[in-house]
Amino acid sequence: MIGRFAPSPTGPLHFGSLVAALASYLEVKSIKNSQGLWLVRMEDLDKPRETKGAADDILRTLEAFGFAWDGAIMYQSQRTEAYEDALEKLKANTYSCTCSRREIADSALQGIDGLIYSGICRAKANPNINQQHAIRIKVLDRNISFNDAIQGNISQNLARDIGDFVLKRADNIFAYQLAAVVDDDAQAVTHIVRGADLLNSTPRQIYLQQLLGYAQTDYMHLPIAINSQGEKLSKQTLAKPIVAKNAPELIVKALQFLGQSPPHQLLSSSIDEIFAWAKQNWQGALVPKKIA
Ligand SMILES: [Zn+2]
Repeated sequence: MIGRFAPSPTGPLHFGSLVAALASYLEVKSIKNSQGLWLVRMEDLDKPRETKGAADDILRTLEAFGFAWDGAIMYQSQRTEAYEDALEKLKANTYSCTCSRREIADSALQGIDGLIYSGICRAKANPNINQQHAIRIKVLDRNISFNDAIQGNISQNLARDIGDFVLKRADNIFAYQLAAVVDDDAQAVTHIVRGADLLNSTPRQIYLQQLLGYAQTDYMHLPIAINSQGEKLSKQTLAKPIVAKNAPELIVKALQFLGQSPPHQLLSSSIDEIFAWAKQNWQGALVPKKIA
């Protein structure tokens, strides 16, 4: 089993990131799966959105919280060639889109994850590609289904729910959907464990895996950590960074969040003792779908 944790260096780790790191780690490192590898990938494609020093800060925080990753860190900013190759392989199914934001907004319907692009450029024989343009992939009017370890059976029709989606943006930045799929394959990831905010992205990623001839991965989408206002913890909602001096308490809290029942005395234990308990007792089947 190969799992991974893939943070974006847009800010420090918060409780929601700790939950994702811990669950992805325990899924491949618990006693029953002790042969597993846990990889870390830095999703630093969007340089303008990056916070200086955040990538190193994230790695130091992971270490301080007792995580040890296998192999070298993969940095998406160094993977442009691999994404270009994948784009080339997908060429028969892609097209250039010269639409402005305004044109897209005027013609699109609201979908389950943003606007559904109406496909204006799909029909253009010779789009003006000297102009700034994005690359989109043609989607099909059929269901893509998968069985998520926590969320159950998920089905989406990309044509109806999403529309032809972007693989490379007009500013030449590769889209998250393509980069994640190419990297998961390159890293031979078998178990993707991440927040349920990415559940809607998964059928797009499965579609790309199919077109690129990659193996399909297993999925586990975790409940989302929210603040007292009911907002998802993120940099945008000003989630508090996690700090090393509270590591034991926060790891125990994350285990509880994930439906596990760590004994009370773990709160006064060392990080090593907490990880030892967690590896011994981890049960992925106990993770709740949602936080009530
Ligand atoms: Zn267009």
